[in-house]
Amino acid sequence: MTDSKEQASCLTKKGIPVSAGIAFAPAVVIDAEDYRIPRRHLSRSDIRPELNRLRKALTDSAAEVASLRESVTQKFGRQTAAIFDMHWLYLRDRKLYNEIAETIRDQLVTAEYATSIVLRQKALVLLESADQYMAERVTDIYDIERRILHNLIGEKREDISHLNSDVVVVAHDLTPSQTAHLDNTHVKGLATDAGGRTSHSAIVARALGIPAVVGLNDVTALVSGGDELIIDGTRGVVIIKPDEAATQQYRQYERELISLGQELQSLRDLPAVTSCGTKVQLFGNIEFPQEAQACLDYGAEGIGLYRTEFLHLGSETEPSEQDHYEAYCQALEVMGDRPLIIRTLDLGADKYTQARAAAPERNPFLGCRSIRFCLQPENLPLFRRQLRALLRASAHGDIRILLPLITTLTELHQTRMVLGEVIEELDEQDIDYRHDIPLGIMVETPAAALSARMFGSECSFFSIGTNDLIQYTLAVDRANEHVASLFTAAHPALIGMIKDVIKAGKRYDIPVALCGEMASEPEFCLLLLGLGLRIFSVTPQAIPTIKKVIRASTMTHAQRVARRAMTLHTDRQIMHYLRLETRKVFPDLV
Ligand code: PEP
Ligand code: MG
Repeated sequence: MTDSKEQASCLTKKGIPVSAGIAFAPAVVIDAEDYRIPRRHLSRSDIRPELNRLRKALTDSAAEVASLRESVTQKFGRQTAAIFDMHWLYLRDRKLYNEIAETIRDQLVTAEYATSIVLRQKALVLLESADQYMAERVTDIYDIERRILHNLIGEKREDISHLNSDVVVVAHDLTPSQTAHLDNTHVKGLATDAGGRTSHSAIVARALGIPAVVGLNDVTALVSGGDELIIDGTRGVVIIKPDEAATQQYRQYERELISLGQELQSLRDLPAVTSCGTKVQLFGNIEFPQEAQACLDYGAEGIGLYRTEFLHLGSETEPSEQDHYEAYCQALEVMGDRPLIIRTLDLGADKYTQARAAAPERNPFLGCRSIRFCLQPENLPLFRRQLRALLRASAHGDIRILLPLITTLTELHQTRMVLGEVIEELDEQDIDYRHDIPLGIMVETPAAALSARMFGSECSFFSIGTNDLIQYTLAVDRANEHVASLFTAAHPALIGMIKDVIKAGKRYDIPVALCGEMASEPEFCLLLLGLGLRIFSVTPQAIPTIKKVIRASTMTHAQRVARRAMTLHTDRQIMHYLRLETRKVFPDLV
């Protein structure tokens, strides 16, 4: 997916564009725990001081472990403290020093970097071990690595939520909660080794309006803290240490982007209607209630997807019923009587539960995620809290409830039962709520899409989640950069499913929206219109572009595009055709 081209010291890397815009700033390179990784590359004269730093860090780490062992022995006895013997022996072992020192000398990298390389390799060997006991020792290795890094780096933990100058954050990957904590006044751009177009960290970067490129494979190895970077989140390009020519070229792209943005902004108060008069509803997707205003500023007619799990991701403690209620009321206050479609907690997979789980799942995207997580007996109190808050807030506006990752009718029935119990409770307590609150489902698994007719008679609306629908239909991890080229909405199987879901919605006369990232991409707009989609729920920044395409289209054209696209057999042919047709109505398509 990536390629690189050396031009003097200026290096161009190509990755996956996930959040549009251009940024110019020096880099801050961080690891998974927000430790700032300083320079990675050394000159020969730096080797000796680096080895001294390493020696001191190993000695200090061993001393820390010895004192920890001492205090654990006093409190819990010798047997419990025995686990620290292994850590101590490891840290004192000359072999470990030699291996890290050799990496520093051979690869001319810093002690931090060499420590990570050596210990991660050891962890990998253990992870691949068939022996369960050995495989479990991997957490000890991570612990040892963290301790040495801590002693090398000191307290220089990067607080990316409170910065005092502009930076581009460079990381191997960011979790959705790390991304949610980014301070978007100073974080001007984001570049990561891992990730895909619809990974949740990419979605949050878009929500925060931070230009981002992911799937760069080795950007963390190429960039040192303080290097000047250009991030082009529209084209998926990162320029490391740009020369004058590259800087001029990207300043020009930036000016063009600003003027296109101004032109699009003038569409804000115009309706999303095709030039032949077909009305379309354009909604926004949000992760935080504060984004509701941005949706209106961009011209949204409602919120089609509020991802409430970010309430968990953004805080250290479990949100209370009142926290949920206040967040929903905050969004409602901005939206007035416009629709606010709130999705119940979509926790699990890459969001929240794995890091805190006692035993992480082997295959979390196919595991206890979303509605499955909420319906687990031990999680019902958390689900009830959210449903109570949703119902209480529904007394103040047009709230509709959306359920994630539905695969069976039983899940819908069970949710109705829990909702019924919560309603009974509210009735007993004389608390007001919307009695006809609509209950819809995300159609984001092949099971739901293929049985849309069955679900259509039992729920109030559909919202097609193509991010997961693509992932599960094409068997492609949405966040894995190595298979990113296979992750496409232009696959004939997917287009066929969308068509059938829209048809099922028509049959039962229920609204069908599409809230996956596909709806935010202008090249799919004609196709979706032609398939009969009338509700698009998109990233707020994409609203003006999608509106412009809709307003320039006719239904005759859109239907012809959909018919023709469905006769094509490969995603490449389909994508090429859709781009050609889109340029006829939207020549600015990048
Ligand atoms: C989807 O899967 O398309 C979707 C909108 O939900 P999320 O991206 O939050 O999984
Ligand atoms: Mg989803």
